[in-house]
Amino acid sequence: MLHDLGRVVGDIARDRLDEAAIYRRERLHARPQVQAGPAGVLECPICGTRAGRFLRFGLDGRRNAMCPACGSVERHRFLWLYLTAHTDLLTGRHRVLHAAPEPWLEQRLRGLPNLRYRSVDLFDPSADIQADLAALPFADASFDWVLANHVLEHIPGDGAAIAELARVLRPGGHAIIMVPFDPKGPTQDGADIVDPVERMRRFGHPYHYRINGREFPGRLAAAGLVPIIVDSRRLLGPHRRRRFRVNRNHLFDCRRQG
Ligand SMILES: [Zn+2]
Repeated sequence: MLHDLGRVVGDIARDRLDEAAIYRRERLHARPQVQAGPAGVLECPICGTRAGRFLRFGLDGRRNAMCPACGSVERHRFLWLYLTAHTDLLTGRHRVLHAAPEPWLEQRLRGLPNLRYRSVDLFDPSADIQADLAALPFADASFDWVLANHVLEHIPGDGAAIAELARVLRPGGHAIIMVPFDPKGPTQDGADIVDPVERMRRFGHPYHYRINGREFPGRLAAAGLVPIIVDSRRLLGPHRRRRFRVNRNHLFDCRRQG
């Protein structure tokens, strides 16, 4: 979640920032250094903050996008509302693998006594396991839940990572997957684009390799992760979308076949 992509992309082009440094910056910038204003009609379902307005966020400076207290953006609040109301992730006894963990979600899951929680990240040495999603150091069927939100688009060839997520999940287990997704068009793939500045132009981030299109659910299913596509506009009525500031977004709640 870079706040200043426009400024850093010049440094990337001049080789002053490598990929790991970019992700460290994303982590540093994940929580804003501002206080919530007076209470108002907007509500963050993750941290409970009520505010008259949220912060702007994104390349396009979306209004009322970021919670001023916990730093969540629209897709985080959608994910949280789904997980808490439509799954037993927080209440059941599960072995959970969290890939490239969002700090706000990790904080809420790691302390739960009913979960055996493990985080995995390629670049972050503070993750429980530092590993490539395409080569996970776990036996088959080691987990009941896998969470991999906005990580697959950072991998040039994501097929191996999808296969690994399926392999480490037990039959009947759940994978929650979010990616940049446009159901109206075909996937725009940039695995062969070597220039971070060009990826920034095409995909809005120097280390994104694609925007997934309508064939993405079929790719998951072919790997044994049969998805239910959850559309924020179907899940939440207009009143709740306004109150919680949730935009059009999708997540894939996949069930492991086998
Ligand atoms: Zn919040």
